[in-house]
Amino acid sequence: MEPAEEPSRGVAGVPADFDSMPTAVLLDLVRSGRATTRPELVNASGAGRKAVAERVAHLVDVGLLEDTGLVPSSGGRPVRTLAVNPGAGHVVAAIVGSTEITLARTDLTGRVIASAHCSWQVERGPQETMQRVAALLDETSIPVRGRAPWAIALGLPGPVEFSTTRLSAPAIMPGWDGFSPRAWLRERYDAPVWADNHVHVMALGEWHEQPQPRRDLLFIEVGVDVGAGLVVDGHVLRGERGGAGAIGHIRVSADETRCRCGKTGCLEVTAGGWAILLKAAERAAESPTLSRMLRTGPLTLEDIGVAAREGDPVVEELLQRAADDVSAVASSLVTFINPGEVVLGGGVLNAGPRFLKTMDAAIKANGPELVTERLVVRPSSLSDGYGIIGAARLALDSILTPPSLARWLPSRTPLAHGAELQRIVR
Ligand SMILES: [Zn+2]
Repeated sequence: MEPAEEPSRGVAGVPADFDSMPTAVLLDLVRSGRATTRPELVNASGAGRKAVAERVAHLVDVGLLEDTGLVPSSGGRPVRTLAVNPGAGHVVAAIVGSTEITLARTDLTGRVIASAHCSWQVERGPQETMQRVAALLDETSIPVRGRAPWAIALGLPGPVEFSTTRLSAPAIMPGWDGFSPRAWLRERYDAPVWADNHVHVMALGEWHEQPQPRRDLLFIEVGVDVGAGLVVDGHVLRGERGGAGAIGHIRVSADETRCRCGKTGCLEVTAGGWAILLKAAERAAESPTLSRMLRTGPLTLEDIGVAAREGDPVVEELLQRAADDVSAVASSLVTFINPGEVVLGGGVLNAGPRFLKTMDAAIKANGPELVTERLVVRPSSLSDGYGIIGAARLALDSILTPPSLARWLPSRTPLAHGAELQRIVR
């Protein structure tokens, strides 16, 4: 008698309703690296050897898993290792920033197989922007030879209601309020579509690129605006509707400068790049460096970075105030969350190491020992925080998570199940 039918042998991480989607769970175990051989799958899933063998054979047959080699086993005989077949399908990941769009097609392991990039002003509105996204999709279609993507995921520079992908009063995206990129794309492509705030997407990318695997990661972006993303055990914490992490609008001061959200005292009013530019321009008369820069045109964040590295006192003062305010918020968040890593990303990294040092010191001075003792505070590892890796993960996780995979596996493609999958991952 196989021990197969005794689900009590399952391990943490295997859903309680294992029986309804056993094959999908096996793929998930391989994909996450928790099991890479059939005996490991038996141990990790609690299913019997025969059941595992049959289900793995099915996954190999449909092309989602492949045998990749041999490793020694405790029983003496080498056993075959399994991996997700990267080329079984592909997904599209796109990051729409305020001034550029990056789009990539990746295989099922998240490896980029084609990419395109262009400068673009998101304020040109949703129709023109989505047409540009579609053009980049066309540009990257050669390596996949007409095959349709299995999913599309977008990162957007504003608050996104995750269940509908609708933008919600985005400060820097005029004309986008209430617009659903999913609805636009679904009229033209069969693939299911997900969209999220770009900081959430970058946080997810950072989590997957961690130098040392840790369970929970807090990503803080300080660029033109200020936001945060929390990833808990590989899942982005989005909150009830997708608005989690909008820390730029936490009230931190009595500063009466009006924030772009319409309120006053927001963290962004001292720490957002847009606000620092305004304040630096106002005080340019105090600074020979800023005065010189202003003679060639309006100040840019690149100018602020240069002035900071040159030790300009006005810019140093503005950045120190920004660092102090961000650090105060970050300390509270860290004490509440107890993450393994805090990652700082965004344009502020171009202004030198001081901002990060301030944040690191403040967090470690203020938090309880259990929270801070092993905490790593580091700069973002992704070049320019592209977030493409994160967006690809969002697409892949959405279609390969066991409840989704169980739905489409019998028809061997997620394309016919877009609407259902969007209802499952919301
Ligand atoms: Zn605000």
